[in-house]
Amino acid sequence: MTTCVLCGMGEPVADAAGIGIRACPVCGWLVGDVPDADLPRPRVDVVYYLRWEGRIKIGTSAQPRRRLAAIRHEELLAFEPGDRVVEHSRHVQFAHLREGGEWFRADAELVSHAAALAGATPPWHRHARWVADALRRNVS
Ligand SMILES: [Zn+2]
Repeated sequence: MTTCVLCGMGEPVADAAGIGIRACPVCGWLVGDVPDADLPRPRVDVVYYLRWEGRIKIGTSAQPRRRLAAIRHEELLAFEPGDRVVEHSRHVQFAHLREGGEWFRADAELVSHAAALAGATPPWHRHARWVADALRRNVS
């Protein structure tokens, strides 16, 4: 078995998509649907929730791997689909917890909001699914 060419995280299994074709269980990419190397990867904006000790940073990026690597944190709590508009609405929603910049006090209210967004799927797996879905929309 080899790992998925798109997300690099899943090992494609038989009939994961229910249509008789091997597919990645993480992002849903179908084996044989090789992404065209000449096509730009789709832009997928996300709002991220990063915890560092008793604080949570709410920010946004279209390149979260690069962005998160540059921010000191202990835990990625969740991703939420969205750009600066969503980010701003979350900053307003949790303004009473704001400690400075994009950092907010990790009160139960904010922690449970992030947990509800994350659900049971690891954040990077959800992100891989969004990228694969956006790419499918681009090529079909
Ligand atoms: Zn995959």
